[in-house]
This record gives sequence, C-alpha cells and structure tokens, in this order.
Amino acid sequence: MTEHSPEFTLSCPTPLETHATVQMAHGGGGRLMRRLIEDLFLPGFGTDPAGNPPHDSAVLDVPAGRLAFTTDTFVVSPLVFPGGDIGHLAVYGTVNDLAMAGAQPLALSAGFILEEGLPIEMLRRVVDSLGHAADEVGERIVTGDTKVVDRGPGDGIFINTAGVGLVPPGVNISPRRVAPGDAILLSGDLGRHGIAIMSVREGLGFEGAIASDCASLAGLVAALVQADPDVHCLRDLTRGGLAAALCEIADGARVGIQLREASIPVSAPVDGACELLGLDPLYVANEGRLVAFVPAQAAERTLEIMRAHKAAPEPAVIGTVTADHPGTVELRNSLGGSRVVDLLSGEQMPRIC
Ligand code: MG
Repeated sequence: MTEHSPEFTLSCPTPLETHATVQMAHGGGGRLMRRLIEDLFLPGFGTDPAGNPPHDSAVLDVPAGRLAFTTDTFVVSPLVFPGGDIGHLAVYGTVNDLAMAGAQPLALSAGFILEEGLPIEMLRRVVDSLGHAADEVGERIVTGDTKVVDRGPGDGIFINTAGVGLVPPGVNISPRRVAPGDAILLSGDLGRHGIAIMSVREGLGFEGAIASDCASLAGLVAALVQADPDVHCLRDLTRGGLAAALCEIADGARVGIQLREASIPVSAPVDGACELLGLDPLYVANEGRLVAFVPAQAAERTLEIMRAHKAAPEPAVIGTVTADHPGTVELRNSLGGSRVVDLLSGEQMPRIC
C-alpha cells in the first residue's frame, strides 16, 4: 500500500469542492490532505480551546490517580446504517471501553485510513458524526492522523480511535472481582446493531423497524459508580453479543454463570429477523448495551439507577454467578430445560464494527 500522511495541523486556503473525492496526494506535500485538515477535520473536531499552536503531540493536564487507556479499530460496512455511522461507532466504541473500567473519558485520538476515490461528502458526514458524538460525551479529539491508500474494494474509510480516561478513587471494576452470588444485570434489549447492519448489507428490508443501539454508556456508568462504587464488573456487549461477553468473564474469573432466558429482553422485530436469518440473538452484536455484575444485595438499587437512565432502555436482572461449573455459561428456559452457551468458533458476522 502506498500512503501519504501530513499531520492534521497543516493549513491550505482553498475550500473543498462538494463533489470532490479523496485522491492520492502526489508531490507538493499533499495539498488535498492539507485542505481536508483545514476544511473538514479541524471544523469537525474543533481546535484547542486554549489556543495553543499546532504541535506533534497533544499535552494533557492530568490529576493524580489512575488512567484507563484503550484503543479500537472500526471497519464497519456499510459506513452508514440505520441509527448511526462509522463516526458514531468510533467514538462510542472507545468511550464505552473506557467506561467499562469505570473511567470518565479525558481525551481521544482519531486515525483515519481513507481509500482513494472516497466522496468528500461521505468523509464530511463521518467527521461531523465523530465530532458530534465526542461533544455529546464531553470528550475532545486531541490528536489525529490521516493516510490515503490506493483504491481498493470501494469501502472508503477505516478509523482507529484511542482514549484515555480517569478512574475515580475507590472504583475497582474488573473481571477479577466477579464472585459467586453476584447478580448479573443487562441494560437493554439485544441484537439491534447486528441486525441493522445485516439488514442493509443483505438488502433484507428490516431497517425501518430496527435501528442500531449504538450509544455512549459513559453517563450510565458514571451514575452507577456514583451510587455504588462497589460495582464488581462491567462489560459492553459488542461483537459476539451477550454470549461472548459472558463466556469471557466466566472463563477469566473462573466462575459459573446461570442465565434465565425469559428475563433476557429481545424486541419482536429483532427476534423475527434472527429467526429468518438463523441467528441466535445472544450472539448478535450490540453497540450500546452493557452487563453489570454487582453483589446480590445491590441488584435492586442498580436496577433502579438503570431504569432512570436513557442509556438503559430495558434493564433486567438476567442471572447469577455461581461457584459451580467454573468457566461455563448455562441458559435456563422457562420450562426448566437448560443448555450451555459456548463461544462460537468462527465469526458470526464480519465487518460489524
Ligand atoms: Mg468492550
């Protein structure tokens, strides 16, 4: 792959034409790239409120304490889907991973790989979404990079974001702390993101009924942690769905997990789509749902806090942690039958986030 990569912070006076596309920058220090930066990235992400001149690194003032640090790369196809686009995912995905450590986001980076031929209007849309999502969560994108690569399959944009956040004193959220007796709470219904993407990609026509659940979980986690700093573990449900999240935690914490199928919310449209596609909603991707592990006596209060928060549209206690069968997730149905929920060997849905 060939690439060309001036920094975000170069300047160029010429405005971008509406119907322009991203082209490989040949010579001259990448004039198109400068224009992208000046006309598109800087307006989308905002400039340093302190008015500092551009520099090779962002320098952050950080209070003493513990930092959470995470990164994620977004390759979703299509770039735009019901309920959002790759720009929203790139912010929420990383912010949610910070939130799962109880951290309040401090700053994000954004790195773009753009395919030659990408319409500028699509890039502008994605950059705007990214900027708006960052504003919504009170986050600044403090550093970034863009590279253009040769024309490929026509997908257009890949984004990497990294984020740092501050973990409040006394907060210790980790799979290590999951213990037998813990209640497991789910914040909302399953499978919207995966089905919304599949619907567009495969032309299935569900998109009127099913939009992605993609959303920031940072505010919900802040409310949970403020009310009860003794939350044992949090995990956002992304690729692999609820099943993958719980299997990883059961394995990592060496505990058993028992789920009650009847308490796991799945909307009728998602349920219907899953039936048609031969998918199990437990395995379908989400981008705005979490599970919380809390001591049994804190379950009711945690549920109350979730009910009061818009990021938890349908909270429910879905199961408990056991000392039996460490590493195993068991799903019990209302008739008293049960089955083991396993990790899938392959990827159920590629390019979902
Ligand atoms: Mg995660």
